[in-house]
Amino acid sequence: MGITVHKYGGTSVADPERIRNVAARIARAKAAGQDLVVVVSAMGDTTDDLIDLAQKVSRNPSDRELDMLMSTGEQITAALLSMALHDIGVGAVSFTGAQVGIITDSAHRKAKILEIGTEKIAQELSQGRIVVVAGFQGIDSEDNITTLGRGGSDTTAVALAAVLKADACKIYKDVEGIYTADPRIVPGARKIDRINYDEMLEMASLGAQVLQSRAVEFAKKYGITVEVLSSFSDAPGTLVCEEVNEMEDMVIRGVTVDRGEAKLTIQRVPDRPGIAATIFGAMAENNINVDMIIQNVSEDGYTDVSFTVQRDDFKKAVRELEEVASRMGAKGVTSDEKIAKVSVVGVGMKSHKGVASTMFDALARGKINIEMISTSEIKISCVVDESDADSAARALHTAFGLDK
Ligand code: ADP
Ligand code: ASP
Ligand code: MG
Repeated sequence: MGITVHKYGGTSVADPERIRNVAARIARAKAAGQDLVVVVSAMGDTTDDLIDLAQKVSRNPSDRELDMLMSTGEQITAALLSMALHDIGVGAVSFTGAQVGIITDSAHRKAKILEIGTEKIAQELSQGRIVVVAGFQGIDSEDNITTLGRGGSDTTAVALAAVLKADACKIYKDVEGIYTADPRIVPGARKIDRINYDEMLEMASLGAQVLQSRAVEFAKKYGITVEVLSSFSDAPGTLVCEEVNEMEDMVIRGVTVDRGEAKLTIQRVPDRPGIAATIFGAMAENNINVDMIIQNVSEDGYTDVSFTVQRDDFKKAVRELEEVASRMGAKGVTSDEKIAKVSVVGVGMKSHKGVASTMFDALARGKINIEMISTSEIKISCVVDESDADSAARALHTAFGLDK
């Protein structure tokens, strides 16, 4: 019998009634003759609540203890779902990530999966039981509990589908699939039937938090077709898969908004060889990832350099940049946390002209100021003021003909 992996996100298991609803769906799939491995997220906002709780007992909780704490959220759901299955006469057993042998590196809060044991799961499945696995977590070689980064249960599901050579990997959410934009921001967003790995990876990395980007990387690497669908309906979802001919020929597949970055500027730094190396060397040394960079035209031997970093790293980045500024004799540092990055994504861009001008034109007509621009083969991103982000996304969605 083939194995199917299901994953249920936080909204789908937010309360006891929803957990019973999920149990009923799983029972139906089981009755249809599938061996099932079910990955669950923490209930509702549990993960955020746990982080708040940590902050109430410590100003600077360590990443190891945060992982220890956050991993309990998923463990609760796994146990409850297993009980709900027992209640309707379905054999099931729940496990933590560590118990099923999800081995990760030791990078707490953003650990990478190194290997997964399959023996225990296979054994339970052979007994006819449903295996419920707590998502988002693993264990390192020193037996420390680790977590896989926010949204990491998606990655647990895809990684399990890969090692178990599952026939299908179904990720159940509170939306009916991947849309051309976040339907909460763009009311005209349309469900996409199929999207290829590269476009999905780009959308996920650019802020479409509907799938964790690492889950998409796994799916691409192991050629796993992932279906994203709703746990509240039976509507068909979106297939994330290799490029296929019947994919609609679109220039732009989707629009994304990312509020997770912040901008820093070092002002009037002497323009001489090595400034970029010094600034970005300091960031790299402190494990700060830099995304967009702009260096202004030099005036009378001085220039401004602006760049964006993840908001989590913002305070650290400001501190480091101020240090660099005083060392290099720059005028100072300014920073802005209230920015957002809006992007358009599509492989069709490779063979179409005028995408950038359509984008800039749509933003101009919406009176939205562009602060930074970056492009790659299949995306164009603009940094705008955070308050303009939603209207920018809607304007771009319309300008590229994506509205319903
Ligand atoms: P989970 O329940 O698995 O944790 P998430 O909350 O992480 O699910 O992701 C689902 C949410 O992602 C949706 O409610 C939606 O608002 C948001 N989202 C952002 N971009 C998109 C998109 N392009 N398509 C669908 N949903 C999106
Ligand atoms: N509970 C974790 C989070 O909120 C992991 C997940 O839901 O995928 O990020
Ligand atoms: Mg999620």
